[in-house]
Amino acid sequence: MAALENSYRDNLSSEFYSDQLPVPVQNPDIICFNHDLADTLNLPKELSNPEVAINFLSGKEALNGTHPIAQAYAGHQFGQFTMLGDGRAVLLGESVRDGHRFDIQLKGSGVTKYSRRGDGRATLSSMLREYLMSEAMHHLGIKTTRSLAVVKTGESVYREQVNDGAILTRIAESHIRVGSFEYARYYTDQLAAFTKYVIKRHDPDLFESENYALEFLNRVMNRQIDLIVDWMRVGFIHGVMNTDNMSIAGETIDYGPCAFMNAYHINTVFSSIDRQGRYAFGNQPRIAHWNLAILANALLPLIAKDEKEAVNQAEQMIQSFPGLYEVSYYKMMVNKLGIVHASLEDRKLVDELLALLQKHHVDYTNFFVSLRYNSVEQKLAEDSVYQSWQKKWDQARSRNNSLEEGLKLMDQNNPVVIPRNHLVEEVLKKAVEGDIDPFNQLMTKLSKPYTHQDMQYVPSDFDESYQTFCGT
Ligand code: AMP
Ligand code: MG
Repeated sequence: MAALENSYRDNLSSEFYSDQLPVPVQNPDIICFNHDLADTLNLPKELSNPEVAINFLSGKEALNGTHPIAQAYAGHQFGQFTMLGDGRAVLLGESVRDGHRFDIQLKGSGVTKYSRRGDGRATLSSMLREYLMSEAMHHLGIKTTRSLAVVKTGESVYREQVNDGAILTRIAESHIRVGSFEYARYYTDQLAAFTKYVIKRHDPDLFESENYALEFLNRVMNRQIDLIVDWMRVGFIHGVMNTDNMSIAGETIDYGPCAFMNAYHINTVFSSIDRQGRYAFGNQPRIAHWNLAILANALLPLIAKDEKEAVNQAEQMIQSFPGLYEVSYYKMMVNKLGIVHASLEDRKLVDELLALLQKHHVDYTNFFVSLRYNSVEQKLAEDSVYQSWQKKWDQARSRNNSLEEGLKLMDQNNPVVIPRNHLVEEVLKKAVEGDIDPFNQLMTKLSKPYTHQDMQYVPSDFDESYQTFCGT
């Protein structure tokens, strides 16, 4: 096979990227490698040679015939429009298997044309964190970029402290973001060519539709709805849903300050820079909607020649988001409750339950497992509002054909284990000190999140002071 393809570079004008080799590192050492993922990819044969593999995964040496690039993009960060781009990442190329194309990207691979004042590097701790979180999301059945390897660079990275540096190999259906369209629209005159490339890559059937740009917007919207509903199902808080961190392929991307919610509260935020709670747990659907409006805006010239007409059509499409999201969200919540034949009435059941969980600071994940095993915690069981809720829940479930049918649905939708913040921090600390075993042990547990195993209990007060960070 040819080393790796690069359809992005081959099809787009040079405004969209800059040719960029990774900056070689001193002393690379593979800390983890995802064999299961590697087996699903059509990786170049040369990589079976360990020396070639380490040079490849550390960016020390590109494979012959490949053309690594850094991609240009823009984006709205906390609502502010900015020019961005791969400031610490390099796309090595694309591997294609059975018609599926995957980007192979190094993150933390050194400065590029888009680095601004950054050093182009990443810390070992944050790259291991991305590896763990993204793989956990994959095993939870949620669309995400994946992690092939983490390589320690042997160099120091300076943040608030001196850290070990590392490079993550990230695998994605593509790294095309809402912000890539903002870039195409406002920094180039290539919006149509760019959009056609993206549609050919991700949604080729759309070329048959009358208005491919509008239909593309519709596709991205629906993928985003599915994704956010999945996040809400497991209590995932992305933490930095800027438009440059929203993949048009509908994958969870950019694991900076993300975290999982423990006690249920709609306003849960862990990111140190999100002081207003813009990206709080319960705000995620609204932000996805906002980001889609930005995408719609960028696509306007392709939606209709007449600007008013384009705005009209785009607005109509975007305004369907809340209704579609609601249907999908309640269907998911009703699944978590094991109600097979949902009715509109069940929405009230969901809302009442969440109000109870919030009032009593009940752990979101553990609640659904304990509900399934008839062992909800005392403070809830003793609340008369909960007792009457439970009767209504029993009634709703009585519409199921059998008890087992409902339990099966609950088991499929309610994870028993998630990457708990305190455990993630613990294994990262050990890994940075040189002991990777606890990290691997946690990863093993997280790879079977729906299998019955011990529930995880969070030390009280841990979350109150817990903070996560961007770009470390
Ligand atoms: P993020 O917060 O990871 O989405 O990054 C936002 C932007 O900052 C992207 O353009 C990144 O490439 C860039 N960036 C983040 N960290 C660094 C770094 N250490 N060096 C250079 N660019 C960076
Ligand atoms: Mg980003």
